[in-house]
Amino acid sequence: QDEEKKIGGRRAKKIKEHKKKMKAGSFDTMGFAPDVLRAIKRKGYRLPTPIQRKAMPLIMQGLDVVGMARTGSGKTAAFVLPMIHRLKEHSIKAGARAVILAPTRELALQTHKTVRELARFTDLRTACLVGGDAMELQFEELAANPDIIVATPGRLAHHLEEVDGLSLRAVEYCVVDEADRMFEMGFIAQVSELLRKMSPARQTLLFSATLPSSLAEFAQAGLTAPQLVQLDTER
Ligand code: ADP
Ligand code: MG
Repeated sequence: QDEEKKIGGRRAKKIKEHKKKMKAGSFDTMGFAPDVLRAIKRKGYRLPTPIQRKAMPLIMQGLDVVGMARTGSGKTAAFVLPMIHRLKEHSIKAGARAVILAPTRELALQTHKTVRELARFTDLRTACLVGGDAMELQFEELAANPDIIVATPGRLAHHLEEVDGLSLRAVEYCVVDEADRMFEMGFIAQVSELLRKMSPARQTLLFSATLPSSLAEFAQAGLTAPQLVQLDTER
């Protein structure tokens, strides 16, 4: 009898947990492949954050998205997970297919680390192109034909000039991360120039903590019918 009660209690707890998970929109219900779900688990993410929950379904549909949420809200995984899902889905070796632009070396390195962790159970190849590191090492990374490039705009532009055969024509997924800082640091013209080198059919995502009007204008020009996902923002 006691045993029965115990099992009943355990089941009730499980059902309660399950309901909570469903309400929060768990990662399991978002259509990710098992390899991606495994990496999410390994990273220790149990439930998507609010920006992930709102932005990822739109991104998974192939829409252009402007995502705004405060620092620390989990924006990186919000664009990295759908990217991995998509690149895995139809695997073609046609040069870089995804580009993530970050305003600083530190941010690019950190984002690259997150990409590596979340893509650990796939065979997707990555390169990180930032200033301050030797060009030669990055040439080697590029020679391995990466699917994903994480870069600062200046260093990527530089590589495009230096490396024969490196092109952005096959890029189908482009992220401009920390777009407000890109603006503040005067990189937006360079970012626009890089976007022009990609196919107009690409999916473009812009993430930012704030959305000044200059940035809204940029989004109108560089994105196609962007969906705005806005959460508790700074300022
Ligand atoms: P943002 O880019 O919005 O400033 P980050 O993407 O850098 O935020 O994420 C902030 C922290 O939250 C990181 O340490 C990241 O690993 C963690 N994080 C992201 N998504 C989740 C999640 N679903 N569950 C738990 N932690 C998460
Ligand atoms: Mg970020």
